[in-house]
Amino acid sequence: SLNLTYKHVNKIFGEQSKNPVHALKDVSFAIEPGELFCLLGPSGCGKTTLLRSTAGLESITDGQILYGDKDMTLIPPFRRNIGMVFQSFALYPHMNIFENVAYGLRVRKTADDIVRKKVTEVMELVGLTEELKRNPSPTGLSGGQQQRVAIARALVYDPDILLLDEPLANLDAKLRRYMRAEIRRIQKATNITTIFVTHDQEEAMAIGDRLAVLRKGVVEQIGSSNELYTRPNNAFVSNFIGKMNFFNAKLSGQGKATIVGTQTTISVRPENIRFSNKKIVENGASVLLGARPEQLEICREKTPEGIRGTVQIIQHLGQFVRYEVVLDSSISDASMEIDMPYMVEG
Ligand code: ADP
Ligand code: MG
Repeated sequence: SLNLTYKHVNKIFGEQSKNPVHALKDVSFAIEPGELFCLLGPSGCGKTTLLRSTAGLESITDGQILYGDKDMTLIPPFRRNIGMVFQSFALYPHMNIFENVAYGLRVRKTADDIVRKKVTEVMELVGLTEELKRNPSPTGLSGGQQQRVAIARALVYDPDILLLDEPLANLDAKLRRYMRAEIRRIQKATNITTIFVTHDQEEAMAIGDRLAVLRKGVVEQIGSSNELYTRPNNAFVSNFIGKMNFFNAKLSGQGKATIVGTQTTISVRPENIRFSNKKIVENGASVLLGARPEQLEICREKTPEGIRGTVQIIQHLGQFVRYEVVLDSSISDASMEIDMPYMVEG
């Protein structure tokens, strides 16, 4: 398998005169052979458009999509060897399960004995049982089983690339978590270069080797889930991957920042400073401080570095307790989220 590379990909829907939608803006990144790559972003940010463009179901306005050094955009969709799975499982109700899975081989005019061998192999891989192989129709299957059939159908003709568009979105929460591990297992077993699309950051962090965060058609950051969580490029990424509490602050020299409207001064490590376009940060410069819920704590007594606030909501979440705290509106206009370890009193 080869690298899948996006070079300055733009996609504009509609005409210049009639409110065009710029769905992908100068998208450039590369996916390694055999990688399980996650594309994460809110609804409408361009995830499906990127997958459909890769599959050739949508033509891009400009840029290149390369598989190895082959320009895929010059190859008609049916010649791109790509498997795709959608959120709506999209099985054929009039075909039995075997024929649903076999479909991609039938259209490729594969010999019967090979079809039987490949379908059996791929159904085993995705964990469909003997009994299900005999089931005449996919309509009686559970959501999880239907999604396994859809994945088997996409894998049966050994695609070079597998595209999964929010494939777990229609499953209930418990099954969704179980299927995350299943998708990782299946992808690692086949080693097919895969893009997994989701709007759910927890799902993306659980599944992807690497993640790209997409916002309004722009790739904001690419990295491992740990990199995105600990070193987010900007406020959007930091608040999309987990929760970030923000304070307006002013730099006050010697690596310190003072939260506006308070006496609270915090050390700022140089490696934790992100620049926008201004490369020089002077004393007195306004900055935005970000703190994860687990980096703050609640104290009952007044402390010199503390800020007064009112606890609004307490959520007991098992390993920790999350407090929602409202500060004076001159300090922050959003409520803070603070996680504290759960303490058993006694
Ligand atoms: P996502 O999958 O991240 O939710 P999409 O790729 O479906 O986002 O859509 C990205 C943007 O492109 C949205 O603003 C959407 O309304 C627009 N869009 C998608 N498909 C079309 C289309 N066929 N015609 C016009 N606009 C479209
Ligand atoms: Mg979509």
